[in-house]
Amino acid sequence: MSDDCLFCRIVAGQIPSRQVWSDDQAVAFLDIGPWQRGHCLVVPRRHLVDGTSQADAWREVADGLTAVARLVRQRLGAAGVNFLSNAGAVAGQEVFHFHVHVIPRYEDNPGMSGLVRRDPTAAQDLDGLWAHLTALE
Ligand code: AMP
Ligand code: ZN
Repeated sequence: MSDDCLFCRIVAGQIPSRQVWSDDQAVAFLDIGPWQRGHCLVVPRRHLVDGTSQADAWREVADGLTAVARLVRQRLGAAGVNFLSNAGAVAGQEVFHFHVHVIPRYEDNPGMSGLVRRDPTAAQDLDGLWAHLTALE
């Protein structure tokens, strides 16, 4: 746990997040600045700077990546997902606690060009979206 790390503080519950999944090694929550509707981050519970530091890092988030991808397909009707992890400031990393973006993709905005063409409505009603994703079946 690093006191000055945003994601360590989220994992510890010191900063609120809209958590959608967790296990003993990792946590997943809605990204506060989503590119597409239902954009989530999967982060290891322990502080690792990025996905290049240890192979273990990816093992710790693997179940979360699968679970969140299934969740957004089932609950939001995503037709696919992009898994993306930025390692290093030059790659666009802004939070230096390893995380993998799970970005749901929809039929009306396909392809790689659609990934970077952010959906301006994706940040609307994050609380409603969260309730929908976490409602018991
Ligand atoms: P990166 O640029 O790969 O480091 O991505 C950092 C991500 O963290 C961005 O997509 C932000 O929108 C997201 N983010 C920043 N602060 C929060 C927060 N408090 N809760 C959820 N996501 C956040
Ligand atoms: Zn951290």
